[in-house]
Amino acid sequence: MGFKAKARKHKSDAGETNDATSKKTKKEGEIPCGVNTCDKFADKSFGGRSLSIDNAIDVWGESGYTQRKGRVRVCKSCYRKWKKDSSSEDSY
Ligand SMILES: [Zn+2]
Repeated sequence: MGFKAKARKHKSDAGETNDATSKKTKKEGEIPCGVNTCDKFADKSFGGRSLSIDNAIDVWGESGYTQRKGRVRVCKSCYRKWKKDSSSEDSY
């Protein structure tokens, strides 16, 4: 008879923890910026964009980026940098 009561007591001791740690409220993206020197996130919710490989090469060189499925996901600031560097293209 003893052990069940003992086990239950043990459980209630550990069962008081708040489960808030399982869901992170910290704002973190899922898609890392494709620019190798950048550690920001390229999620849409962060203003990230996807560039073509050719566009990425123009600004960061052939080994300066990481591609995903034929595109390069870049964060907001990298996109702005790219836009600045390729200002010769007026089309949006
Ligand atoms: Zn970036």
